Amino acid sequence: MKKFVYMFSEVDKTMRNLAGGKGANLGQMTKLGLPIPPGFTITTEACNYFYENKQKLSKEMIAQIEESLINLEALTGKKFGDVSNPLLVSVRSGARTSMPGMMDTILNLGLNDKVISGMAKKDARFSYDSYRRFIQMYSDVVAGVSKAKFEKIISAMKAEKGISSDTEFDSKDFQEMVTKFKELYQEDTGKKFPTDPKEQLYGAINAVFESWENPRAQYYRQMNGISAKWGTAVNVQSMVYGNLSETSGTGVAFTRNPSSGENKIYGEYLINAQGEDVVAGVRTPSPIESLKDVLPEVYEQFVTVAKKLEVHYKNMQDIEFTIENGKLYLLQTRNGKRTATAALKVAVDMVAEGLITKEEAIMQIDPQQITALLHPQFDVFALRKANQISEGLPASPGAACGQVVLSVEKAVEWTNAGKKVILVRLETSPEDIEGMHISEGVLTVRGGMTSHAAVVARGMGKCCVSSCKGLVLNEAAKTFSVNGKVRKEGDFISLDGATGAVYEGAIQTNPATISGDFKTVMEWSDEIKRLNIRANADTPKDARQAYEFGAKGIGLCRTEHMFFDEERIKAMREMILSDTTRKRVKALDKLLPMQQSDFESIYLSMKGFPVTVRYLDPPLHEFLPKEKEDIKILAKEMRMSVKKLIERIDALHEFNPMMGHRGCRLAVSYPELAEMQTTALMQAWCNVHTKHPEYTDVPEIMIPLVGELKELQFVKAIVVKTANSVLRKNHMKVDYKIGTMIEIPRAALLADELATEADFFSFGTNDLTQMTFGFSRDDASTFLPDYYSHRIYEFNPFATIDQQGVGKLVQMAVKAGRETNKDIHLGICGEHGGDPESIDFFERTGLDYVSCSPFRVPVARLAAAQATIKNREK
Ligand code: PEP
Ligand code: MG
Repeated sequence: MKKFVYMFSEVDKTMRNLAGGKGANLGQMTKLGLPIPPGFTITTEACNYFYENKQKLSKEMIAQIEESLINLEALTGKKFGDVSNPLLVSVRSGARTSMPGMMDTILNLGLNDKVISGMAKKDARFSYDSYRRFIQMYSDVVAGVSKAKFEKIISAMKAEKGISSDTEFDSKDFQEMVTKFKELYQEDTGKKFPTDPKEQLYGAINAVFESWENPRAQYYRQMNGISAKWGTAVNVQSMVYGNLSETSGTGVAFTRNPSSGENKIYGEYLINAQGEDVVAGVRTPSPIESLKDVLPEVYEQFVTVAKKLEVHYKNMQDIEFTIENGKLYLLQTRNGKRTATAALKVAVDMVAEGLITKEEAIMQIDPQQITALLHPQFDVFALRKANQISEGLPASPGAACGQVVLSVEKAVEWTNAGKKVILVRLETSPEDIEGMHISEGVLTVRGGMTSHAAVVARGMGKCCVSSCKGLVLNEAAKTFSVNGKVRKEGDFISLDGATGAVYEGAIQTNPATISGDFKTVMEWSDEIKRLNIRANADTPKDARQAYEFGAKGIGLCRTEHMFFDEERIKAMREMILSDTTRKRVKALDKLLPMQQSDFESIYLSMKGFPVTVRYLDPPLHEFLPKEKEDIKILAKEMRMSVKKLIERIDALHEFNPMMGHRGCRLAVSYPELAEMQTTALMQAWCNVHTKHPEYTDVPEIMIPLVGELKELQFVKAIVVKTANSVLRKNHMKVDYKIGTMIEIPRAALLADELATEADFFSFGTNDLTQMTFGFSRDDASTFLPDYYSHRIYEFNPFATIDQQGVGKLVQMAVKAGRETNKDIHLGICGEHGGDPESIDFFERTGLDYVSCSPFRVPVARLAAAQATIKNREK
C-alpha cells in the first residue's frame, strides 16, 4: 500500500518534495528534539492523486488519515471530539517551496457545541473566542462564505457595545458571535455548520488541496517557476494556544534582519494572542527583544533554538512560534525571504563566520533578486501606502515614477523642461527609442517579454511594464484610462518593472547601491563558474555598462540599434528607400563613418574583450516613418514626391515581417549592405588595434537568420572579400571569425553542414522559440494566459527556454556542430541568456558562453556559478 500520510517523526528535511517544505521542516525539527506540537503530513502525491481522481481522497488515504489521527491522540493524550480533553488541530498547506499567503489554513479545528461546553468550564472567554475564529475561517475556506460578512457582524457588535477592539469582547459576546456566525453559515450555504470533527477535518483537507489551484496560487506559481505538478502537502498539527493567558503569546522572528542582513534576531510577538492577530495588525506587536523582560526564560530558549536552526539549515531562518502558559513551541521554520542587500550580507557573513562554504553561499542567493540592486528601488514604506491601479508583464526591472506622456515629442519637450516622464504607448517602435531613453520608464498596452519595448528597455536598464491590463489610450484627446477610470497626460504614475505593478501617483525611489558584499559574491561566482558571460550591447554606452557589470565580451551587438538615433535614421531611411544600387551605396556611405566610429568606441569600451557584431537583421520597414508629417519631411529631404515615397513605403510592406525580408536575406538582396558593415567593422578594428596592440581580440562577424549553407556561403564570400581588402589596405593581418546565428529550426537541423563554414554558432533563442512554436514573439502574451490556465503550457517559453522542444534543437545543433568542427565556439544570445533556469540548461548543454543584456550580467554570473555547482554535484 502506498504511503500517503506520515507522522512528523517519520519525516525529515530530505523529503521536501514529498512532504512539502513545511512538513519536511516540522519533521526535521521533531527529529532534532525541538518543541514541536505533534502532527502528521498528507503528501504532495496525495494532492496529485486528488486532482487526478475528481478531487476526491482515496479509501487508502482516508484509512491512513484515521490511523494517524489515532496516533496523534495517543501522542497528545487528547481525543478528537472529546468533551473533557479535546484534541484540536490546525490544517495547513505546505508546498515544496513556500508560497506565503497563497493557500489556505484552518485553525482550532475539532470544535463543536459539545466540545466547547467542556472547554468553556475552564476558560469561557478563550474557548468561545477560539470557536468563533474557527467558524469564521472554516466557513471562508471550506464553504466560501466571504470574510467580509463576518467582519460586518463583528463591527456591528462593536458598535452596539461601544468598543473598538476585539480584546474588549467578553465571553458572552463571543458566545453570541458564535451563534450569529453559525446563522450566517446556514443562510449562506443552506446547510448547518458541520459538528462532526472528522467531517470538519475532511472538509478542511479537501479545501487545502483545492487551494492549490486558486487564482492567487496559480499566479504565484507562474511568477516563480513553480510547476503545478508539484502539488501541496497538508499538515495536520495539534493546536497550541498563545491566547490562553498572560504567559502565552505568539510571534514570528528571523534569525537575522531580513532587510539589512544584520546578524541579530529580528521579529515581533504578541502576548495573549493567536497567530492571525500578528498578521491582521489589529494589535501592535512588540519587538522580540522585549520578550527578554516579559518571559526571560522563554526568550533565552528561543534565542538558543533559533541559532540551532540556523546552524542546522545553514541559512537564515524565519520561525513561527507560540508560547502556551510559559512553554515555547515552534510551528514552522523556513529559509527567510530577504531583500537583495540582506541576501548578499547574510551569505558573505556566514562564510566569514565559518558556517558555510563559498559554494553554499552562492547557492543561497536568488539570482533574480540581484537585478534589484542595479536599478533605483521604491522606498518600502512609501510603497506600502501606494494605490495600485493595474498590472502588466514585468518586462524590464526597476522602479520608475513620473508624469505620463503619450508621445515621444511630449517626452522630449517635458524632459527638456526638467520634468520626469513615463512614456505610455500602445507598443513601441524604433522611433520611440529616444523617448524611451529619456523617460524614467515605459508602459505599453501590447507586447510580451521579448517584444521590442521589453528587449530595448532591458538593454537600456530602463524600467518597463508591457501588456498592461485595462489600459486604453486616446492619443487624440491626450487621455488614457486604466480599468475605465480616465486620466490625462501629465498625471503621475509609478511602475515597478520587477513585478509589473502600476501605481497611481509618484512613489519615492532610492538610488541603487552596490555594496562590498555584492562585489565579493560576484568575485566568488567568477572563480566558480564554467560558462563565460558576455553581454548584448549595441552602443558604446551599453558596452561601457556591460564592462562595468563584469561582462567578458559582447556576444551580440545588434547593429541596427545604432541607426535609431534621429540623425542616423535619416540616412538609414534614405538607404532603404533608394530604388537603385547607386543611390543605396550613396546612402550607405553616409552610414559607414557613423557605424565605424561606434564600433571603435565599442572596441575601446571592451578593452580587448571580444565583440560579436551581428549584421543588419530587422525588416527594413521598421525604420520607415509612419506619420504623415514625417513622410512629408522625408520626401523633401530625399527630393522625392510624397506620392512616390508612399508608393515605395507600400512596396516594402510585408504581411508577416518577422518571417519576411530580414536577417541575411537583406544581404542577399543588397550585398552592398554587408560590404558597408564589413568595411566599418574591419576599419574600426584596425584603427583601435593599431593604437592598442595589447588587445588580443579578433573581429567576430555574425550572420543572422541563416537557414541554408549556401546562404551563409553567399554572405560569407562578400564579407571575406571586403575584410581582406580592408586588412590589405591597413597592412594588417588577423584571423577574423565568421559565424552564424542558429535561430531558424532549419539551421539547427542542418548544423553539421553550417559548421563546415562557421567558426561559431550563437543560438538566437528569441527567434528560435518563435519559429519552433510558431508563436509570434510580439503577440504571444495575448493568448499564452489561456494556455497557462488550461495547463497546456506552464511557463512563458520566451522567458525560460523550452527544454523539451527548443532545447532539443539546441542540443542537436551543439552535437552536430562539434562533430563537424571540434573547435566551434558555442553561445546563446537570445533573452534566455539572462534567465537563471535557462542558464542551468545551457550549462548542461555544454555551451561556451551566454550573452544577455548588461543589466542581467551580474544575474548571469551568479546563475552560471550555481549551474556549475549543481551540475558538478550530479
Ligand atoms: C534572437 O532571435 O534570439 C536574437 C538574439 O536576435 P533578435 O532578438 O535581434 O531577433
Ligand atoms: Mg533573431
